[in-house]
Amino acid sequence: MTEAGYALGSPRLAAPARPRERRRLATSALIWAFVAGNAAVMVWLWVHGGNLSDDLSTGALLTGLARITGLLGAYSALLQVLLLARLPAVERLFGFDRLTVWHRWNGHACLDLVLAHVVLSVWGYALMDRISLPKEVSTMLGGGVYPGMITATVGTALLIAVVVTSVVIVRRRLRYEWWYAVHLLAYAGIALAWFHQIPTGNELVLDRVAADYWRALYLGTIGLLVAFRILGPTLNALRYRLRVAEVIPEGPGIVSLRITGHRLDRLDARPGQFFLWRFLDRKRWWAAHPFSVSEKPDGRSLRITVKALGDFSSRLAEIAPGTRVAAEGPFGVFTEEARRRSKVVLIAGGIGITPIRALMEDMSGDVVVIYRVVRDEDVIFRDELEELAAERGITLHFVIGDHATEDGARLLSPTHLQEVYVCGPPAMTELLGRNVRRANVPPRFIHTEKFAL
Ligand SMILES: Cc1cc2nc3c(=O)[nH]c(=O)nc-3n(C[C@H](O)[C@H](O)[C@H](O)COP(=O)(O)OP(=O)(O)OC[C@H]3O[C@@H](n4cnc5c(N)ncnc54)[C@H](O)[C@@H]3O)c2cc1C
Repeated sequence: MTEAGYALGSPRLAAPARPRERRRLATSALIWAFVAGNAAVMVWLWVHGGNLSDDLSTGALLTGLARITGLLGAYSALLQVLLLARLPAVERLFGFDRLTVWHRWNGHACLDLVLAHVVLSVWGYALMDRISLPKEVSTMLGGGVYPGMITATVGTALLIAVVVTSVVIVRRRLRYEWWYAVHLLAYAGIALAWFHQIPTGNELVLDRVAADYWRALYLGTIGLLVAFRILGPTLNALRYRLRVAEVIPEGPGIVSLRITGHRLDRLDARPGQFFLWRFLDRKRWWAAHPFSVSEKPDGRSLRITVKALGDFSSRLAEIAPGTRVAAEGPFGVFTEEARRRSKVVLIAGGIGITPIRALMEDMSGDVVVIYRVVRDEDVIFRDELEELAAERGITLHFVIGDHATEDGARLLSPTHLQEVYVCGPPAMTELLGRNVRRANVPPRFIHTEKFAL
């Protein structure tokens, strides 16, 4: 591999990025203000509900803490839904990858708050009612004094099931489809918890405005969810009428699918983005999988290229031309728009070449593509890549062989790296991300696509 000679401090891209950047900052500030503003309203309701007075007994103090953890727990459950509701503005701003990571952390925070709410409520009310903990639990579940508690308990159990199945180690032992199915129970958990909130929530039960505010939060969340996860994809399926046109073998265990449809230019899909694809035949209609477009969309068709890694991907070669397709998207910020500098390094690991192959059609200037594979026969699109590189003046390197080769080591030398796009398996993108940061490349110049959510 030739030395590309990248030094930090190469020229910034010219002005057009600035208004876009300002718009992004403004949208981001609005979203954060909305999220923090609602949290502040909840804290205000709690303070206003008399939970901070000087002469609180231990029982009152504990129930006060139970209330704030309950309010914030329910709020984080709604945020949890919104994080993956495919809201276009949020998606465009932060990217699916980052939203998934936030969804994971927020899910843990949500469960911690809900569990704290349960424990503090039982403990606090037991002290105030001067009865034992088991007696307090049976009073609460009895239904006479506190309505909606049985459904809330079932809801909490469902949320626990979801978080437990999401813990990475458990997730690895379960099939993805099982993990996903259990995940859907979170919606049921949140809905069931709703029934005890207004009837028993101290801050909501007496104040009509507060109760209406709470209803509006839930209705707003449901509305966005239905609009962007159900109606949007359904309308798109009818509008674009996608079908598999061709199945093309690309290499051992790798196929490309060409998908045609009606007026695909209106999708506004850009190189580097991905869709969640659902193939509507008898075997596959119920599962949606993420795959990036592997060439620049031309308004008439989309191409994806898939490596056989598991039960779904390894049977995609059998798909019949003519099969109808529903696609959610486009998603992702691994695009030319994310670029801040004129000098760029794009690093693909294995099948991670798909979005990078497409990005090469969109990028010009000082661009270096490094394509890392283990064996020579793993290289796909060799002719296309060489042709594109020659056409667009892109420097292309194939790094084939073991990770410990001399080329592999030099690949990450600090002088080599300026602005970096990395796409590949999670272990590789994480390692590269860490090493690139160590090479003093500021995080805003590193763009990754992990191929795992
Ligand atoms: C943003 C993104 C873009 C991707 N682009 C491509 C591409 O262009 N070409 C390509 O070959 N692969 C791509 N992948 C990876 C591809 O989605 C998985 O390899 C595929 O879904 C595996 O499914 P499986 O049932 O065959 O394998 P499994 O053995 O069931 O799964 C293997 C791993 O893939 C992930 N996975 C499985 N199903 C899903 C799903 N429905 N949604 C999210 N993750 C899932 C899980 O982490 C799982 O552990 C991409 C992944 C992401 C997140």
